[in-house]
Amino acid sequence: MQRLQGIAVSPGVAIGEAIVFDHEGFRIPRRFLPRDAVEAELTRLDESIAAAASEIDLNRQRVAEQLGDDYAAIFSAHLQMLQDRRLHDELEQMIRDRHYSAEYSVSRALRRYAKVFLSLEGDTMAERANDIFDIEKRLLRHLLGQRREGLGELTSEVLILAHNLTPSETANLSPEFVRGFVTEMGGPGSHTAIVAEALDIPAVVGTGPFLTEVSGGETVIIDGDHGLVILQPDEETLARYRHEVDEHRHLAAKLETLRDLPADTLDGHHVTLLGNIEFPAEAKQCQERGSEGIGLYRTEFLYLSRDVQPSEEDHVLAYNEVTQAMQGLPVVMRTLDLGADKIPNFPMPEDEPNPFLGLRSIRLTLKHLDLFRTQLRAMLRASTSGNLRIMFPLITTLIELRRAKMVLSDAMEDLDEEGIDFDRNIQVGMMVEVPSAVLMMDRFVEEVDFFSIGTNDLVQYALAVDRNNKDVASLYTASDPAVLRLIRMAINAAKKRDKPISMCGQMSGNPQYTMLLLGLGLRSFSIVPAAIPEIKRICRSVTIPQCEELAERVMTLDSSRDVKTALLEELTRLLPDQPV
Ligand code: PEP
Ligand code: MG
Repeated sequence: MQRLQGIAVSPGVAIGEAIVFDHEGFRIPRRFLPRDAVEAELTRLDESIAAAASEIDLNRQRVAEQLGDDYAAIFSAHLQMLQDRRLHDELEQMIRDRHYSAEYSVSRALRRYAKVFLSLEGDTMAERANDIFDIEKRLLRHLLGQRREGLGELTSEVLILAHNLTPSETANLSPEFVRGFVTEMGGPGSHTAIVAEALDIPAVVGTGPFLTEVSGGETVIIDGDHGLVILQPDEETLARYRHEVDEHRHLAAKLETLRDLPADTLDGHHVTLLGNIEFPAEAKQCQERGSEGIGLYRTEFLYLSRDVQPSEEDHVLAYNEVTQAMQGLPVVMRTLDLGADKIPNFPMPEDEPNPFLGLRSIRLTLKHLDLFRTQLRAMLRASTSGNLRIMFPLITTLIELRRAKMVLSDAMEDLDEEGIDFDRNIQVGMMVEVPSAVLMMDRFVEEVDFFSIGTNDLVQYALAVDRNNKDVASLYTASDPAVLRLIRMAINAAKKRDKPISMCGQMSGNPQYTMLLLGLGLRSFSIVPAAIPEIKRICRSVTIPQCEELAERVMTLDSSRDVKTALLEELTRLLPDQPV
């Protein structure tokens, strides 16, 4: 049994069979052969070894001609390893005696060798391990050939173990078959993490390298509550986690009963719970969990799940689906927040060295007005089908906001000229996710109808810490006193002018912060649909003076650690069965 500590990004526990996607995206399932297929499988193995050997030999000759024999020696070493008699015997035995497929045998045997080298000290040993991985990949390429399987071709329930998943790859995971995932890379605020929450599957990211330790088909436990991954679990651990899965189910069933009850505090203050969505189909989940609308629709996912740019009609179809599903409840559609880690499959304007500080989000759309206009026209057209509101992301300066509003006015004029109907009083809001926006709130309140605090970015820009980077993940926390002060400033500034303010960053869906945020005056939370019942339960268990007292105390603390401790203590005192 082996335990890996990563970053918990989507709660719950998943137990199941793993499939491994390494750097090149190979999927190596454990396949057993029927008895009569063994001989054919041995032939496949030999053919793949022969093909890989001639490929390596060709490389060796080329390099020898161009750079000399010294450089070609590495390929001679690869050839020797590949044609090693003992390796061949071992593979043959796995296929003959255990009826493993050639792919699975190759992956298992070579990874075991590589692991031995990796466990030895020194750069040379690490290089040998790399050589072995190289040979493994070559053989797999020949064996899998056209049968190389992708993430989209799953046919049974699995846990995905991958080096990295982009937000668009995650968005395309089939919720029917993917029961959870782990990635070696990734940070706590990455969009991959956000999509995992939306799919409502346990996920852990940023474990560091471990894919060499595991083969497809092995049983793995993903503990998305504590960021733990357990490889080759023993019976006792399996039993303990199975019990936890039951507990989760119990709590979910208990929360289900809250569905139609309002999120009112014990002393009668109403709290509005809205849903965050990435895909139109999620609007239904918001309805099912009893949300009062959608506080954030991340429309850029329309671009991430396809290879060509969506047309105006594609946008309108998607937006109508959402507004109609919400039956007149408010739907806040955010304009494109592409760039940074959300890169579509078609070419983007720049290759950026520092993408989170670069041409991202509103900056990108203001530079590429074709993209922006298409989307704004579609939003306006869809505005007659429901209660649609428009929100601009990553607003940093007043001028930026004014320019965005101007493009919106132009789109309105165009539609007018074309005789196309739209909601002339459509509400326009902005995200508060850059410290400069918080500092300028007294000006912004004059120019928008509503605000939504985006803590995922506010944390990264306030603390200068990349939301995607596992190595600085401990710094990336909304519980930092500086972040809390920014949030308090934003809420107070909006309240002073009676402008609605909500929060749609992940902080608002984290039960640890609910009381604090209520105490700071927040009355609207936009959260992943799966979290709605849990947050509602907390709202219904507290009074506002109780929350204000907690907030006052917490705002005097010096460090994120002290803040977290104080919040956890209060929450466990109030709701002892709340998983933390
Ligand atoms: C945020 O930054 O908090 C937010 C909600 O936007 P995104 O996570 O899509 O950047
Ligand atoms: Mg953001």
